[in-house]
Amino acid sequence: MRTGVLAKYREFLPITDKTPLITMNEGDTPLIRSHNLARELGVQGELWLKYEGANPTGSFKDRGMVMAVAKALEDGSRAIMCASTGNTSAAAAAFAARVGITAIVLVPSGGIALGKLAQALIYGAKVLAIEGNFDQALEIVRDLTARYPVTLVNSLNPYRIEGQTTAAYEICDTLGRAPHYCVLPVGNAGNITAYWEGFKRYFAAGRVRNKPRMFGFEAEGAAAIVRGEPIDNPQTVASAIKIGKPASWERAVAARNESEGLIDFVTDEEILDAYRLVARTEGIFCEPASAASIAGLRKALTKGWADPTAVFVCILTGHGLKDPDNAIQQAPNLTNVAANIGAVEDVLGWKA
Ligand SMILES: *Cc1c(COP(=O)(O)O)cnc(C)c1O
Repeated sequence: MRTGVLAKYREFLPITDKTPLITMNEGDTPLIRSHNLARELGVQGELWLKYEGANPTGSFKDRGMVMAVAKALEDGSRAIMCASTGNTSAAAAAFAARVGITAIVLVPSGGIALGKLAQALIYGAKVLAIEGNFDQALEIVRDLTARYPVTLVNSLNPYRIEGQTTAAYEICDTLGRAPHYCVLPVGNAGNITAYWEGFKRYFAAGRVRNKPRMFGFEAEGAAAIVRGEPIDNPQTVASAIKIGKPASWERAVAARNESEGLIDFVTDEEILDAYRLVARTEGIFCEPASAASIAGLRKALTKGWADPTAVFVCILTGHGLKDPDNAIQQAPNLTNVAANIGAVEDVLGWKA
């Protein structure tokens, strides 16, 4: 049964007697064994896909948000605020609705996928479209939450990262071990930080006997960590990782170094190829940013950076329906046809 991540992983989280164990049944997402895609990529060991799109608002952000909102409630806060490329705002808006507090979200004007915008609006958040990018929106939110009694729920809020560690525990619980490689997209770099923290904690608690190498992938046009400097005007089709100044930069680098992993980049073309490939080979629809993990694994195997006989987990961070525009653009196979049997037979090339 899904109990939500706070109740399930309570002993690994900063939960006190006063923390309300709120939940929308987040977490417990499918870890799907891939055979077809594994073959395509040349994985000879095992490939598993952690489908975070199955969370209540369609992305892993629910894991961190449930923890952050629980702590905000514990502290008596009645309002939360974030900057977002879309998924954080969806999660913040949903949890705020669920517990009856106010959510204010700042999104980059025109820079957020349609489904995510729809979510924030329908859940009843105050949605402000900033005429600027994510990094500018975050700066505004940092300033205002420092001066007003409103809780910041971006991943600078340490409880976000804490909640997100639960995905690592789930992977270990399902596999009975940690994978050799954990591959994921990197935007603000909170998630790679959280996974590594989670794997380390499970290892330290004796729940698993190994730790994975963390392989993170930025988008080429937003690869601040790879290039070693912030990017003022990040560009990528993968809006969820279109971030030029990652908030958890140092901790992501630490995760890479401690795990003997790597942080590299993938191009938009590689991301979109992987996006179509995982849908067509496995029937799994993720959003473009999520596909950076698949594209990254492909790159790592091609370059000989990873042992193909190992156990891999790729994190598919968000649901494909978040971004219908990209899907339709990338898969233009709609055929218009007259409403009669003959016309359909003609199009299909069927002749009785
Ligand atoms: C937030 C997000 C990311 C990036 O995660 P970070 O913690 O910012 O690195 C990747 N994919 C999706 C779908 C996201 O919502």
